Amino acid sequence: MKLLIARPMTSAVEARARAEFDVEIRSSTQPLSQEEMLRALTDFDVVVPTLGDQFSQHVFAQVPVPRCKLLANFGVGYNHIDVKAAHVAGVAVTNTPGAVTDATADIAMTLLLSTARRAGEGERLVRSGEWQGWHPTQMLGYHVTDKRVGIVGMGRIGQAIARRCHLGFGMNVAYQSRSPKDVEFTAQYIPNLSELAASVDFLVVAVPGGAETRHLIDAQVLAAMNTSGILINIARGEVVDEAALIAALQTGQIAGAGLDVYEFEPAVPQALRDMQNVTLLPHLGTATEEVRTDMGHMALDNVAAFVAGHPLPNPV
Ligand code: NAP
Repeated sequence: MKLLIARPMTSAVEARARAEFDVEIRSSTQPLSQEEMLRALTDFDVVVPTLGDQFSQHVFAQVPVPRCKLLANFGVGYNHIDVKAAHVAGVAVTNTPGAVTDATADIAMTLLLSTARRAGEGERLVRSGEWQGWHPTQMLGYHVTDKRVGIVGMGRIGQAIARRCHLGFGMNVAYQSRSPKDVEFTAQYIPNLSELAASVDFLVVAVPGGAETRHLIDAQVLAAMNTSGILINIARGEVVDEAALIAALQTGQIAGAGLDVYEFEPAVPQALRDMQNVTLLPHLGTATEEVRTDMGHMALDNVAAFVAGHPLPNPV
């Protein structure tokens, strides 16, 4: 059984992979090229791909009978894999749900607080050496405690964000998802996205990416937000119409944005980089040693189950 891991992993994950499997661990941190994806499907039994590895219908069409029988994705989001095309080609797909939840919710809170309280702008001011000192009207931001947050996509991460907002900051929670959820505190279900957007101070996006959610946050939803509203996106860049977001920020339609992900990642438009009221992070959602190790173990647990002929723990 030959295993390909598409990126360097934490040392704990690499050590386990080498101990348990005949593994090739790719040294590049860049996504697999088209050629590498074809080789992955042809020369390996199992591949651990991740974000950016575009296993599209086009790729599967070029390898109609792949040697590879499992794509054990490293990450909960798998919108870079055409799962339907994979299944048609006889390739199972798994992901790493749960391991990522708290860390990603923490990054959502980092973005929410940083944007509302102008932390990025303040940090840049201090670093510039231009800070003139405290005064009563210096850099006034938006208060967070007791405000109202709207969660778009009340799944594992959405609920973890809602919990932090409610229990940590006394915030009133409303949400949209395909179905209402049973949560341990009061949270108002508002299935209409524009209605939700109009009713909140912070709108936090936590849905999966993919064709179904592409541009879910469009000009219409942004126009429904209050002018003091702040948009946070920790989901996938393509869920937000980035051009519409830039327009909404430039015209003062909304007050600010906190982004961990971008529509054409890693390209970040200059217009966003020029705005002080936007917090920009380089897709840090799960970026801690523990979480990346947990994700790696989860991916390898799926590989191990496949090798042993057991049911896959996390099929998608
Ligand atoms: P999850 O538990 O599956 O939750 C997804 C939620 O989105 C569910 O509540 C689902 O609603 C809702 N949803 C799905 N399609 C929808 C649609 N078309 N319209 C409205 N709501 C929709 O997933 P999760 O573990 O919370 O992860 C969510 C996403 O976060 C991942 O797919 C990934 O792309 C992203 N993520 C980003 C980072 C990062 O580093 N920034 C890290 C981890 C994950 P129902 O429950 O009603 O079906």
